[in-house]
Amino acid sequence: MHKYDYVIVGSGLFGAVFANEAAKHGKKVLIAEKRDHIAGNIYTEKTEGINVHKYGAHIFHTNNKRVWDYVQQFAVFNRFTNSPIANYKGELYSLPFNMYTFNKMWGSVTPEEAASKIEEQRMEIKGEPKNLEEQAISLVGRDIYEKLIKGYTEKQWGRDCKELPAFIIKRLPVRLTFDNNYFNALYQGIPIGGYTKMVGKMLDGIEIKLNCDYLENRKELNAAADKIIYTGPIDAYYGFSLGNLEYRSVRFQTEILDKPNFQGNAVVNYTDALVPWTRIIEHKWFEFGKDETGNDLEKTVISREYSSEWRPGDEPYYPVNNERNSRLYGSYKMLADKEKNVFFGGRLGEYKYYDMDAVIGSALSAVEKML
Ligand code: FAD
Ligand code: UDP
Repeated sequence: MHKYDYVIVGSGLFGAVFANEAAKHGKKVLIAEKRDHIAGNIYTEKTEGINVHKYGAHIFHTNNKRVWDYVQQFAVFNRFTNSPIANYKGELYSLPFNMYTFNKMWGSVTPEEAASKIEEQRMEIKGEPKNLEEQAISLVGRDIYEKLIKGYTEKQWGRDCKELPAFIIKRLPVRLTFDNNYFNALYQGIPIGGYTKMVGKMLDGIEIKLNCDYLENRKELNAAADKIIYTGPIDAYYGFSLGNLEYRSVRFQTEILDKPNFQGNAVVNYTDALVPWTRIIEHKWFEFGKDETGNDLEKTVISREYSSEWRPGDEPYYPVNNERNSRLYGSYKMLADKEKNVFFGGRLGEYKYYDMDAVIGSALSAVEKML
């Protein structure tokens, strides 16, 4: 008999959802988290009354009604809709690509005018787009590619657009309407009071060991549980024995400013190649510039985001889904599938670029299968 039914490695969204559901089913659960706080990458921390998204801006959006209903147990969501602004050498454009963008770029007034401009510019691409550059031009034309896509994408990925896969740019909507909602999602918002509070509610009554790295305490933790749910990097679990999976990393430079309004929007992307950061987040606008009692906040907190190549020891953020890494992940997955008492889940455990709603969905299915 072990002390716990499950030791869950990681208190991010995957670990928290799994822990909550397992405890609800009467299972004994322990969470081991190597950081000094819960919530993984969706962690928010209050500074000057503002919930600061410490590991990058997180906007909850989903088309999955089951997931949306599920999260309502743990937080009330506000009506925030993400509508980023692109700043290209001081010219401001609306994102994602919509009629406001086309009007500013070409003076197009009607959807027909915008469509014919795009049609005229996409003619240069013959046949199926072979890379991100061709895909982008074929979606929105060369002018938008040059001003709003090329610089941003090459900064974000550290690679030439001709060497990147076409699918990355297909994440962005292109609309011939004046709808500047960045996401095609039925449900969207930010949990009032921050994500840490939401995850805290999921973990209410669950035993958590912070500052506890599973890989350094493997023996004791394995001995304590029937099963391990591992949400850390899969290659680290196997001691990088087959090689390192690669990531893109991000560095955040956060400042408190003694003014109420720095950029008038939560997200401003810097799309030219010369500005070294990719975007600036002004955190207060995720909650409309108000504190919890509805008062205006006097100061503001901003974070500049710098994208960087990941080196062992850095925080891993975005999986780099090229051929080498997909093959390497496949080899680790074969080892993982042979494990009897260990289940790998989440963004790092599955080396997959999951949005929050997909992580919740995947944790709920894992629980259903296992319990
Ligand atoms: P994580 O949050 O990474 O949690 C894993 C946890 O495991 C961490 O707490 C880590 O410390 C811990 N851990 C790792 N190894 C060990 C170990 N050996 N021992 C103990 N603990 C360990 N999604 C959206 O839906 N909307 C967005 O706007 C959005 N924006 C994003 C912006 C950025 C910059 C990034 C990188 C991602 C964004 N995402 C967004 C995705 C979102 O962050 C993930 O879907 C989600 O956080 C994944 O949860 P997880 O539990 O799988 O991983
Ligand atoms: N993108 C761009 N210009 C922008 C915003 C996004 O060219 O101003 C491109 C870029 O290639 C990026 C992709 O669209 O990698 C997807 O953007 P998204 O914001 O979805 O990236 P995320 O940070 O969520 O992965």
